[in-house]
Amino acid sequence: MLNRPEHPLEARDSFHGARTFTSNRGLELEEPLIFEIGRPETTGVDLDEPEPFESRLGVLERHSPIGLPGLSEPEAVRHYVRLSQKNYSIDAGLYPLGSCTMKHNPRLNEAMARLPGFADIHPLQPQSTVPGALELIGEVARWLMTLTGMPAIAMSPKAGAHGEACGMMAIKSAIAAKGEASTRKIVLVPESAHGTNPASATLIGFDVRPVPAGPDGRVDLQAFRALLGPEVAAIMLTNPNTCGLFESDIVEIADAMHAVGAYFYCDGANFNAIVGKARPGDLGVDAMHINLHKTFSTPHGGGGPGAGPVVLSRRLAPFAPAPFLRQEEGGLRLVEHTRDDSQSFGRMTAFHGQMGMFVRALSYMASHGADGLRQASEDAVLSANYIRASLNDLMSQPFGDAPCMHEVLFDDAWLKPTGLTTLDFAKAMIDEGYHPMTIYFPLVAHGAMLIEPTESESKASLDLFIATLRDLAQAALRGETERFIGAPIHAPRRRLDETRAARNPVLKWTKPAPK
Ligand SMILES: *Cc1c(COP(=O)(O)O)cnc(C)c1O
Repeated sequence: MLNRPEHPLEARDSFHGARTFTSNRGLELEEPLIFEIGRPETTGVDLDEPEPFESRLGVLERHSPIGLPGLSEPEAVRHYVRLSQKNYSIDAGLYPLGSCTMKHNPRLNEAMARLPGFADIHPLQPQSTVPGALELIGEVARWLMTLTGMPAIAMSPKAGAHGEACGMMAIKSAIAAKGEASTRKIVLVPESAHGTNPASATLIGFDVRPVPAGPDGRVDLQAFRALLGPEVAAIMLTNPNTCGLFESDIVEIADAMHAVGAYFYCDGANFNAIVGKARPGDLGVDAMHINLHKTFSTPHGGGGPGAGPVVLSRRLAPFAPAPFLRQEEGGLRLVEHTRDDSQSFGRMTAFHGQMGMFVRALSYMASHGADGLRQASEDAVLSANYIRASLNDLMSQPFGDAPCMHEVLFDDAWLKPTGLTTLDFAKAMIDEGYHPMTIYFPLVAHGAMLIEPTESESKASLDLFIATLRDLAQAALRGETERFIGAPIHAPRRRLDETRAARNPVLKWTKPAPK
């Protein structure tokens, strides 16, 4: 007789725990490193043996074979297709990574970006041959200045963090122009900030002072005021902040900064929550980067591409970097070198920016229209609040239960009695086929779980996600710890030692000794 396990999970475990002969599971195929499958003597192409020749490399001549793995064409194709299938993406399923705005990237954008007139231009081509590209950059700039209510823009920064550096350099130049370079050194950064904010401020030569959060998850206004003084250069504030909350005192904060002669840098990574609803220019912002790859949809993650244009207030506009576009008689001209008497802080990048991303952003903006962009923001906020209202009876929120913006933040207080951690819960989501939410960020919440569904998900998709999280949460509260400890159970790899991987990375393959 079969020895039937009592619990269906045990059945799953004992079955899935069993190793198959190939280590494949169903159609989930194991894939070794390319060095492990390739053989130096194999090649996918027919090459003639080279005639004997005299090396001209002198001492640089290689005396041992280079050892590159050789694969036949089908082997190479299978290797990379299998790897690509291991890559979770927004095209595969819901991707609730808070603060990252993993929304659908319309295919229209991709078609536009591949138009040869945009895709094939070379950054060193004479300007006279690319008037259309310059016009497109100018049009993206116009949309961004309109949506933010700001009078100037630097288009060249290549990521959000790069935009932060750009904005802080403009602020540093403005301070130097007032003769205060040696005295104004402090940048205030709220505790909930993204790590790039203090890093950018430090990189540009400022000293960072943290601003505590109040019990409502927003800047503690009293503590903030206590930090103000003539040595304060700027504040770097994210709005909506990384707790998914709108900083409702933003105008007061901006006014207080300006009153002490300091500047207001706004981290605009969360712009997706307010596009078409609020204009940062009306809120007293002096500089703000916009992550085009987040808000205006370019496939991102895994290192790029990114684009982080920075809008600037009238006070900071004179310090904007080159290159920039100038309207001249014959049309737009890209100004690459600033005059000696200019106040510009200099050249930000070699070329003008990420052309492909500008095309995608304009395609996204123009196809949505002003009303469509506003609708996207409203839907993103609605989706996050739907998730919040559907889970808040089970999962705890660090700053009480109040409406959120585009993302909802839970903490681990509700997990305390179970002995499980945020990490256990997130890893168990992988077994259910969901990419986990952002965890342990922002740092102001204990065991943070930050969920950003974006406007891309249908109600059915949100309902299934919510039902899954409820099922997991109830299992955790019932004490079914086996579903969590050591999860993921069904993924191709079990739980990895991420700390060891980060501290002790093995970056080079070494050939195993022959057995
Ligand atoms: C994503 C993000 C950044 C950094 O943007 P990158 O384009 O990844 O450099 C900065 N701040 C916040 C709040 C973010 O979410």
